[in-house]
Amino acid sequence: QAKHSAAGYTLYSGNPDKEFSRRLALMGELRGAIAKNELRLYCQPKVDFESRHICGAEALVRWQHPRLGMLSTGEFIKLAEHGGLITPLTHWVLEAAFRQSYAWDEAGIRLPLSVNLSAHDLRDPRLIDRIRGLFATWGIRPELIQFELTESVLMQDPEGAVDMLTRLKALGVQLFVDDFGTGYSSLAYLQKLPVDSLKIDQSFVSDMLANEDSAIIVQSTIDLGHNLGLEVVAEGVETEAVWQRLASLGCDTAQGYFISKPIPADAFGEWEQQSAW
Ligand code: C2E
Ligand code: CA
Ligand code: CA
Ligand code: CA
Repeated sequence: QAKHSAAGYTLYSGNPDKEFSRRLALMGELRGAIAKNELRLYCQPKVDFESRHICGAEALVRWQHPRLGMLSTGEFIKLAEHGGLITPLTHWVLEAAFRQSYAWDEAGIRLPLSVNLSAHDLRDPRLIDRIRGLFATWGIRPELIQFELTESVLMQDPEGAVDMLTRLKALGVQLFVDDFGTGYSSLAYLQKLPVDSLKIDQSFVSDMLANEDSAIIVQSTIDLGHNLGLEVVAEGVETEAVWQRLASLGCDTAQGYFISKPIPADAFGEWEQQSAW
């Protein structure tokens, strides 16, 4: 019996054999889900600490399964990565993000939207041309699209990552190192990466008030980022108290439930208009 969780329907059944066949079945369904348009784009706002205004949003995919309901994103992304489905999934998300960015532009909302890329995407020789094609098709300025890559993905192939990031940067987009603090990159390597921002992993942010080690990691990351000329984003900001502490440490941008949960992309404009941020 699979369980429901805050993050959605979890794929873990507790029984390894059952779990394997469940995953196999879901993998097959995911292939169809992309074609049948069961995927949804959600957007989560990012807020600037100084101005307290929304300064961007992150694109997060959701799978609305016809029988199982909303599936846990982290789990089906992993499934897609193992099952060779990340390329079509990334294509779907890119298409949806450009469409959304175009719609916002038409509505007078000028917010950059960041798209998550996986390890496999970094090795896809056709990714750059596809992104360039989307910019041309939708007539969107490069400042309005950004990309997030986790630190551990970058560390899987450090040299290949520098090469791919350099080519992404040449398109004029901004790049974020996601889940920073979990991937063990060196200072020397970080200096070589053509990125604009670090996103502090939410595990450190969420318990920085209760755990002094986490607080030290958060503070060091903010200082490190600033010393390298990078902006620093804190994700997983759930409370006013954490917001205040991050503000006093000089963090640049916040993302998390304190501001808003991810919102269906087509409802984001309305939320933005009504929000005090
Ligand atoms: P991520 O890129 O680190 O995204 C942040 C995750 O934290 C999101 O989970 C978001 O909903 C959640 N979150 C945001 N604020 C808070 C908060 O205050 N508290 C807590 N507890 N959680 C918060 P989500 O949407 O379930 O996505 C999970 C992961 O799946 C993402 O982690 C990302 O690695 C991956 N993912 C999501 N969408 C995509 C996508 O379109 N493409 C790829 N390649 N990966 C994606
Ligand atoms: Ca991310
Ligand atoms: Ca993250
Ligand atoms: Ca994130």
